[in-house]
Amino acid sequence: MSCLFCQIIDGSIPSKPIYQDDECYAFADINPQAPVHILIVPRKHVASIAHAGKEHNSLVGHLHWVAAEIARSKGLVEGYRTVINTGEHGGQTVEHIHVHLLGGRHLAWPPG
Ligand code: AMP
Ligand code: ZN
Repeated sequence: MSCLFCQIIDGSIPSKPIYQDDECYAFADINPQAPVHILIVPRKHVASIAHAGKEHNSLVGHLHWVAAEIARSKGLVEGYRTVINTGEHGGQTVEHIHVHLLGGRHLAWPPG
């Protein structure tokens, strides 16, 4: 059984596309926590950053470059936040690496 984000990538679960290329897909978060809340996910299934090996270094970097490109395209000139939640204590609910791109409002620190 394919994971939720693998099903979003293959189109069997609908999503609102924002950006795509050979390595990743970005789509709107279904439960946005900020005016801009986009998820950037690799097409290849990797469960979490804790499961990523050195061979995934360029992929993980690419996800962040894509986040910055989307932020530029959305005009987030006052800043934004990229987040990767990992495991239970990190608040990860979908076991397929994803970068959250959050912006469009002032974001508090530290997170809860
Ligand atoms: P995390 O808690 O870091 O694993 O993030 C998972 C994110 O996926 C949450 O922000 C959810 O709102 C989002 N999400 C869950 N289901 C969907 C879906 N079908 N389409 C878009 N985003 C989703
Ligand atoms: Zn997956």
